[in-house]
Amino acid sequence: MPTMRDAKNLDMADPLYSRREKFLLPDGTIYLDGNSLGALSSRVPATLEKAVRDQWGNHLIAAWTEDDWWGAPLRIGDRIGRLLGAAPGQITVGESTSVQTFNALVGAARLRPGRTLLVTDPDHFPTNRYLAQSAAGLCGLDVIAVPVPDVHDFLREHGERVAVVSYGAVDFRTGRLWDAADVTAAAHAAGAVVVWDLCHAAGALPVELDEQGVDIAVGCTYKYLSGGPGSPAFIYVARTHHGTFEPPLTGWHGHARPFLMERDFEPAPGISRTRIGTPHVLSLLALEAALEAFDGVEMADVRAKSLSLGDFFIECVDQHLVSLGFDLVTPREPGLRGSQVTLAHPEAHALMRALIARRVIGDVRPPNMLRFGYNALYISHADVHQAVTTLRDVVLSGEHHDSRFQTPTLIT
Ligand SMILES: *Cc1c(COP(=O)(O)O)cnc(C)c1O
Repeated sequence: MPTMRDAKNLDMADPLYSRREKFLLPDGTIYLDGNSLGALSSRVPATLEKAVRDQWGNHLIAAWTEDDWWGAPLRIGDRIGRLLGAAPGQITVGESTSVQTFNALVGAARLRPGRTLLVTDPDHFPTNRYLAQSAAGLCGLDVIAVPVPDVHDFLREHGERVAVVSYGAVDFRTGRLWDAADVTAAAHAAGAVVVWDLCHAAGALPVELDEQGVDIAVGCTYKYLSGGPGSPAFIYVARTHHGTFEPPLTGWHGHARPFLMERDFEPAPGISRTRIGTPHVLSLLALEAALEAFDGVEMADVRAKSLSLGDFFIECVDQHLVSLGFDLVTPREPGLRGSQVTLAHPEAHALMRALIARRVIGDVRPPNMLRFGYNALYISHADVHQAVTTLRDVVLSGEHHDSRFQTPTLIT
């Protein structure tokens, strides 16, 4: 039976425990929604203040060179690359994941002319599915929805027609972790190009892009990387494709000689061709400051802690919640989990709102799922224990039946 004492013992043995000091979390709040918007990293406010006053305010246009605003998309890309197993020079940071997904899918399709299928997950995040339809339409491909467990069979049968295979490393709803190396190898055996979405993997678990031979990957930085609201996304293009990858969004920052202002587009060599237009500089600098929380951290340690938190959460759920109508959606097996655990309950929405009123913050996803994400840098086993017992108290008290928790909200 997991107790608060067990939780505290686990926390005392946790080598990442003190990382929490690098985040500014409000007192009395247990924040289990870092898989949607990461917490504020303590380096960010002062860095932004300085960027605004000194760089923008004093250096003005010269900041592009003096403060290397120009280099930020690739400089920060390399920094993220360390967390994703990507050698320098293969990641650009900028735009949103949606924009990068479009660039990635069309660019990937162009690497396989003559093939006619784009294979993707029917349960992929909405933006990925909508953009797959759009990109496929523009490239003359058909979108085929194949659940990850069926992708091997599909590729064995139809592989020679498949141009692009596009999946998310972790299911955003269920928290299920897929075997990216295995799917990538199957896609390559069929001669297809893979596009991975790492939104729920970057900063949450080790990723080995180079080692696994991933072609293209995208992901956002405001979830486990805590880059801040709307912080810019990243795109990884493996070096082997740098000569041939043709992004559809050919903005002037991706030109070989942007400041010569030439009449026709010629892609820059290397990853710079994935640059588009003037980046969101302040958001980039906030992200760069936030990434300092990962300095000196090994992703293997992040993974070990995240799994320990998940194991402990599931033990607490078994003890306190299963008998109260909750089902565990996320697989129990540690190797099949990302860094969130999802529960199902018919009254998910009202329960989450009542829980948030008690300052335990998670979120809900249709139809009936409660998501609890834990960022290993700032969540403790004690938080997990308290979150579960608070949820139990909410259910037992029936306070979620209060009319103020029953009305639908735009975002919960
Ligand atoms: C969070 C998330 C996104 C978000 O895309 P935006 O363009 O940043 O809104 C996209 N795909 C997946 C899989 C996500 O989890």
